[in-house]
Amino acid sequence: MKHIPIKDQTVQSIADITKHDPKMQILANTINKEWPEHKKQCPAEIQEYWNYRNELAVYQGILLKGDRIIIPGCMRQEIMTRLHTAHLGIVKTKQRACSCVFWLNITADITKYISGCEICQRSSDCQPKKPFMNSEIPEYPWEHMGTDLLFWEGINYLVTTDYCSRYIELDKLDSTSSGAIITKLKSQFARHGIPRILTSDNAPPPPVRSRRIQKIRRTVENHTPHVQPRYPQSNGLSEKVVQTVKRLMSKALTDRLDPYLALLEYRNTPVDDLASPAQLLMSRQLRSVMPSVEHNFVPKIVPKEEYKAARQKQQEAKKEAYDRGTRMIKPFAPGQQVWLNKTGQANERWIKATVTGIYDELSNRSATVKTEDGAVYRRNRKCIHARPTANECTYLKNNVMPLTNMEVPAYRLPA
Ligand SMILES: [Zn+2]
Repeated sequence: MKHIPIKDQTVQSIADITKHDPKMQILANTINKEWPEHKKQCPAEIQEYWNYRNELAVYQGILLKGDRIIIPGCMRQEIMTRLHTAHLGIVKTKQRACSCVFWLNITADITKYISGCEICQRSSDCQPKKPFMNSEIPEYPWEHMGTDLLFWEGINYLVTTDYCSRYIELDKLDSTSSGAIITKLKSQFARHGIPRILTSDNAPPPPVRSRRIQKIRRTVENHTPHVQPRYPQSNGLSEKVVQTVKRLMSKALTDRLDPYLALLEYRNTPVDDLASPAQLLMSRQLRSVMPSVEHNFVPKIVPKEEYKAARQKQQEAKKEAYDRGTRMIKPFAPGQQVWLNKTGQANERWIKATVTGIYDELSNRSATVKTEDGAVYRRNRKCIHARPTANECTYLKNNVMPLTNMEVPAYRLPA
């Protein structure tokens, strides 16, 4: 039997384009020879790489900054689109980029790109934040997992989350009977092991749910995890994860993308400034639509101390941010382009509008806005988000980089 080599087409394309990109070639030659002693002696085209010179390398026709592939200018739009496959937020997307690709000003470009993404803007959240709950940090992957049900587009899903790695398993359910759920759970136990604790949903209607829990408990007790109902004081992780999955799938649907690709990108994206769910659970990066150097797929363990310290730090930071109250929000200006959530409900789609008047200028609490169909609404600040205008988001179309600051012009009170 012959082995069929599966070449990474994208990595090959990057190598081909790098070979024909004059700037990339000057950079490659300089790396291969040796950098001059002073920045001024450097060819003008690559002086901006000077600060990174000690991290740069050439490997099989590809330029690297550490483990990250340097993407030539004309491929950046394509890579940016892939980077945003799961429509995750700015911080997460920047962290994902750090694990595989690089170009100058990539972080500023990610901010611009996502700020201008209509799919993200239309489904953003305007619900008040829930009080912060400290939760126990698990000792090892798949020790403690949570399950919840998700009903989406007429189909039931079982969403399972590992509290340690935040790895999500998503199973389509033909029925929501205990038997169907238990079969899915057992298949997951066969894959990742039997958790020590299984937190399950205990939401109403109580008789049905508690019967289900009883049955799950009886069945899995043979496999020994301790089944505990979800109680209000818990950190509500499963509930949050269900919302995340729902958003992931809705955005994929709007973008006409395979939701499983979005899930793959979620699993590859670092959580809590640490490592990705896949890295924490399986000690490796998963091959995906993002180009990556091969040695990134070789298992690397995140030390337990590092993981626990990062989680602890994140919990403290989140608590502090919550205690400080809602973050400072930039005031609106009349004429400013915004997104409006008419009802303030989480499932409401955000629509385009323009600010026509400001109320409570000092506290910046509400504004009147006019939608594209001419209707005027006065709404709380929570239901209005800034919308970057088109010319602030066109950087990739003309391949001109970097752009100036994308910040929405601040409204100043008259002196
Ligand atoms: Zn998006």
